Amino acid sequence: MQKSSGSNNQDVKQKNRMLVLKLITVNKGVSRVDIAKMTGLSKMTVGNIVTELIEQGIVTEKNLSDNPFPQNNGNYGRKPIMLTLSPDSPCICGMLIKRELCQIVIGDLSGTILEQINYEFSSLENGDALIDMLMQGFQTLTARIERPILAISIASLGPLNSSDGIILNPPYFYGIENFPITSIIHKITGLPTFLVNDANAGALAEKLYGIGKDIPNFTYLHIMNGIGSGLVLKDSLYEGDTGQSGEIGHTSINFAGPQCACGNKGCLDLYANVDNMRQKVFELSPFYPASPLASVSHPTWYDIVDCANRKDALAIIVIEEFCSYVSYALINTLNLLNIATLIVGYDSSLNGFIIEDIIKNKLSRTLLSANYDDITVIHSKFNGNAPLIGSIAFIADKIFSLSLSLFK
Ligand SMILES: [Zn+2]
Repeated sequence: MQKSSGSNNQDVKQKNRMLVLKLITVNKGVSRVDIAKMTGLSKMTVGNIVTELIEQGIVTEKNLSDNPFPQNNGNYGRKPIMLTLSPDSPCICGMLIKRELCQIVIGDLSGTILEQINYEFSSLENGDALIDMLMQGFQTLTARIERPILAISIASLGPLNSSDGIILNPPYFYGIENFPITSIIHKITGLPTFLVNDANAGALAEKLYGIGKDIPNFTYLHIMNGIGSGLVLKDSLYEGDTGQSGEIGHTSINFAGPQCACGNKGCLDLYANVDNMRQKVFELSPFYPASPLASVSHPTWYDIVDCANRKDALAIIVIEEFCSYVSYALINTLNLLNIATLIVGYDSSLNGFIIEDIIKNKLSRTLLSANYDDITVIHSKFNGNAPLIGSIAFIADKIFSLSLSLFK
């Protein structure tokens, strides 16, 4: 039977507290008056909540004279006191697992990274070696910081069963399969520990702290070794039944295509990848001898995007093909869910955004909703770092939505 739950006064009070805290953290400096306007709560209610949060050491006041961007337009009068997270407020440990890199960070509820350590590797003996590396990073960082740690969130390459905290069977991940990572880390640290798909984490970073803050529905597309996507629907991350939502790399763009390790045929990941792009460069370079790519023996993703941004014809052909594959898969998602906004993140801080331009062009010609609505394709606020920031956002979101307590 479907369960419904009502709200008592205590629930409503808690909900308001977390709403006020969320506005203070994600807006990085608002006044009590701003919060009352944004929430519709009375000034007295906001004042009482803020007083409590200050007494608990979570929020602090900041004089406007400290603020380099005064908001009173030069008018003299009573300056509002800005609110911000306390420098002693509790922190979050975020971990990002990629195929050849682990990044471990300590951040606060505002998504600000305070400490970070990276480990590069080219092989892993087994799951225990992965745990050793993550724990070494955790211990190093927690020794540097005296603030309490609320929880650990692990953003990882998939496929995962995030609700059970299990890394299932990521392709080419050193044979690590069905690995119950969250229960092991929880056992060692005693902290609440969660697992989230990396692209889902990226989507949440954009929703909470990034360019998607005011966009209710969007798809976040992350391009790395493989391609992942995360869905934000009605202002919330959509994780599906077991946290496997957004596996766009394993949607088929060719039912007669090659067999994929996932069991499906013609998956996007088999077509839109750097190896295929490199092969295309190799095949076409005799026809484009002036291209800088023609003289590079092993062009990287960065090389190809960089050349395309500088209007190199060979690079543009290769990127065009890549974007065609991605667009075919995207159209399925965007048409199915009637989403008109795409946020794209990839490991490159290059200006130019040619990938966004090409994808937008392709979608504008084929997407159903493009007939009556503009398609918006924007670059991630965090470039390739959205999944890492998202590992922090995943816990912050749980606290703001009351599914995890701020107090032990
Ligand atoms: Zn597949």
